[in-house]
Amino acid sequence: MGNLLEGKTILVMGVANKRSIAWGCAQQMLDQGANLVFTYQNERLKKSLGKLIDDENSLVECDVASDASIEAAFTTVKERFGQVDGLVHAIAFAPKEALEGDIMDVNRDAYAMAQDISAYSLIAVSKYAAELELLKNPASIVTLSYFGSERAIPNYNMMGVAKASLEASVRYLARDMAKFGVRVNAVSAGAIKTLAVTGIKGHSDLLNMSEERTVDGHSVTQLEVGGACAFLMSDLATGVVGDTIYVDKGVHLI
Ligand code: NAD
Repeated sequence: MGNLLEGKTILVMGVANKRSIAWGCAQQMLDQGANLVFTYQNERLKKSLGKLIDDENSLVECDVASDASIEAAFTTVKERFGQVDGLVHAIAFAPKEALEGDIMDVNRDAYAMAQDISAYSLIAVSKYAAELELLKNPASIVTLSYFGSERAIPNYNMMGVAKASLEASVRYLARDMAKFGVRVNAVSAGAIKTLAVTGIKGHSDLLNMSEERTVDGHSVTQLEVGGACAFLMSDLATGVVGDTIYVDKGVHLI
């Protein structure tokens, strides 16, 4: 337990269950004294999130595929909790057929959907956070990326293309959100078995390959990723802007 985030309220988007990377972020931020508010995608995921969080008041519906849903969610968060000090965006989706075979198998609809949910949504939440003055000045936004943005990882295909967009969006947002006192960064996490990963064909091979390439033979944990997220939310990170920080136990080195 520390006090790095004491007095800060942080909005966490993307906890599906206890294996979610966003849940690792939440645990580390709670441990540093933060107050947390959570968004969930739909009623099914609300049930799952409700198993982790007792306080229904701190749960707000938000489907990032819809501008109206983002606007309504942020309005509710501001009404209930006032302005917040940070926002964690741990959201991605691509249709199954875009996560197997050759990249040429990705059709227009799958491409558009993956880009919309996994990359554009970061721009959309930043836009509404700015317009609705949801974030304090200063504040911090952290998103989650993966090494498949830079290398051609088997089957990761469309999500790799979306993560490249996401990391570029982080840089442009960092430039343009600075006028509101908002820092924007990404954490590039190593492979962890979550619900999202199981959508990738041959995900067990991906997880094994990733573990073999760590410097010590042990995959990064969701809490280790969460630790970096807590740091980026804190005032210790005021100089870190527009960056993508690897938290993958060195997989990107080899
Ligand atoms: P997860 O399945 O636990 O979380 C994904 C979340 O995205 C879920 O909560 C889901 O509800 C949400 N989501 C999807 N579509 C949405 C929509 N339309 N509106 C609102 N929410 C929506 O999986 P995770 O692995 O914890 O994923 C979190 C982030 O971490 C993703 O961006 C993922 O790409 C990234 N990431 C994961 C890994 C890994 O190995 N698990 C590695 C690096 C980066």
